Amino acid sequence: MIPKMMDALVKPTAAPGLVLTQVPVPEVGIGEVLIKIHKTAICGTDVHIYNWDPWAQTHIHPAMTIGHEYVGEIAALGPGVTGYHVGQIVSGEGHIVCGRCRNCRAGNGQWCKHTKGVGVDRDGAFAEYLCIPATNLIVIPEGIDEDVVSFFDAYGNAFHTATMFDVIGEDVLITGAGPIGVMAAGICAHNGAKHVVITDVNDYRLDLAKKMGATATVNLKKQDLDETMRRIGIKEGFDVACEMSGNGAALNQLLKHMRNGGKVALLGISGPGTVIDWNDVIFKGLTLQGIYGRKMYETWYKMMSMVEAGFDLHPVITHRFRYTDFEKGFEAMNSGMSGKVILSWDK
Ligand code: NAD
Ligand code: ZN
Repeated sequence: MIPKMMDALVKPTAAPGLVLTQVPVPEVGIGEVLIKIHKTAICGTDVHIYNWDPWAQTHIHPAMTIGHEYVGEIAALGPGVTGYHVGQIVSGEGHIVCGRCRNCRAGNGQWCKHTKGVGVDRDGAFAEYLCIPATNLIVIPEGIDEDVVSFFDAYGNAFHTATMFDVIGEDVLITGAGPIGVMAAGICAHNGAKHVVITDVNDYRLDLAKKMGATATVNLKKQDLDETMRRIGIKEGFDVACEMSGNGAALNQLLKHMRNGGKVALLGISGPGTVIDWNDVIFKGLTLQGIYGRKMYETWYKMMSMVEAGFDLHPVITHRFRYTDFEKGFEAMNSGMSGKVILSWDK
């Protein structure tokens, strides 16, 4: 039986924090699916919303339930939904797109102009139940640990960025060892990069990157990137890079350390007015590719296949709490001493 009311983590007003409260279980409309949430993971975006920083103040309209990284099971199918059944283990693409614009119709939903974010522009997954369009469902193959599935959304960001350019036999630089940079390091190493060098200013996170397969870590507070490159024999600069810090200094350092003709995938969201030296791009003939979300839905297919084939994401998980202890989860995220933080929604 689906209850009328449920527990949810809600941003009630335009102020820091979240409250655990009772809200109505969403009504399942035409073409929609109700998911009973098993586990969720905390994303950096949720931390922005929790802290009520300037980004959150301009993008979030309380009161609303937040969260967009989750795994659960189908609890009910709305009118007109076929091809799925109650009890299937699922996650979901967090961008709800129009399906009519040029990009959507070309299979590039990640660039839809009318995109709406689950847990950002509409109620999210930090709740006992979530309602999304059936088009966004991702059916999870049997045998994948639900802990890992809970952050497939973020793994998808890492995967899309890390597979944008061919890394086989290449020297790869990743700036930023947040959970996404850590996963990207693992993906590039798994996919046959020659060296995967990752920078950050946080040893705890660089150690996670090492566990995922980074060949060299550079703590910029005490180590030098050029020295690391000399030590491992990178002479002409990096062939491929992923910017995953959202820090302007990191972006500039990345551009300075590319080889002529190098390729750069940009995921990190730099602050407004971030300045780069365009001559690094022009004289080196660099290719820059902005990354938003995941390819809909090719990234989901490939990233799940890689996990099924044995790619292990467990090293990036550092904390597990029950949803009632959500404050501890956000504290861990805010401390910087965390990888992925998982909240379970068992009653
Ligand atoms: P995060 O904030 O947890 O990690 C960023 C890391 O960068 C931190 O560990 C921080 O210590 C490190 N850092 C700070 N200054 C640095 C410097 N000068 N050099 C190297 N590292 C430095 O973020 P995350 O959740 O891992 O996400 C990575 C980035 O991707 C964020 O900017 C996030 O906003 C962005 N993002 C973008 C999309 C998209 O669709 N484009 C989706 C998800 C996340
Ligand atoms: Zn569209």
